[in-house]
Amino acid sequence: MVISKPVLLGLPYDASSSFKRGAADAPREIRRALRSEASNSWSEALIDVLRPEMVGDAGDLDLSDVARVRDTVETRIRQMVAGGQSPISLGGDHSLTYPILRGFGPPYGNINLLQIDAHGDLYSEFQGDRFSHACPFTRIMEDGLVKRLVQVGIRTMNEEQRTNAQRHRVETIDMRAWAAGRRPKLDGPLYVSVDIDGLDPAFAPGVSHREPGGLSVREVLTLIQGLQGPIVGADVVEFNPTEDPTGVTATVCAKLVKELASRMLEA
Ligand code: MN
Ligand code: MN
Repeated sequence: MVISKPVLLGLPYDASSSFKRGAADAPREIRRALRSEASNSWSEALIDVLRPEMVGDAGDLDLSDVARVRDTVETRIRQMVAGGQSPISLGGDHSLTYPILRGFGPPYGNINLLQIDAHGDLYSEFQGDRFSHACPFTRIMEDGLVKRLVQVGIRTMNEEQRTNAQRHRVETIDMRAWAAGRRPKLDGPLYVSVDIDGLDPAFAPGVSHREPGGLSVREVLTLIQGLQGPIVGADVVEFNPTEDPTGVTATVCAKLVKELASRMLEA
């Protein structure tokens, strides 16, 4: 398969959040951290990922027409994929992953999906909203958008979500299984969705739903660096800058974006 070019796409949208708003400001803060002179532009695999010829930047999508957000995202992602680009979307809340994956469609009907998250996001609906950030993976599985969904970092499972996970054959590696040594085995084409709250809040406090007992930054980096390609797209979602007074979470997001891009370019 032809390796396509990773391109950043900002998705400043948080109106499908169930608790706190603020994730709409994340794209700006992640880009600021990527450009910060506190670090350099190289990945750990020694690729100078932030050179424009390596990773492009499509800017932020205008999502001010809230009623059309899902259509707008799906259409833009479809354009990018058709144009030979691998979108790295900067959320925004996790509701966006559903329209992103709808935008993939053919020729990527056979993609596998890796979700890193404290939460299953597998409610049928949440607070009366089928498109809440608590529901995207139920919608993705109902629509048959991916071959397999493997979840890592989960530590808030409940009865309703477990029922939906079983119904849709979702493979959940919760934190207890992770701690016991279980790891995902996935081949490409692969899409990677990183909810920043999958990390332990000690490492990444800037999220709306802090859930103790999560992954370390190093564990997530090792997971990303070991993925089999091709990786056709990724998102980094749920970073909430209003909960990140020290800026450390922005730095974590930037690091993950660099390593995801690097893995895309290597694979
Ligand atoms: Mn989450
Ligand atoms: Mn999530």
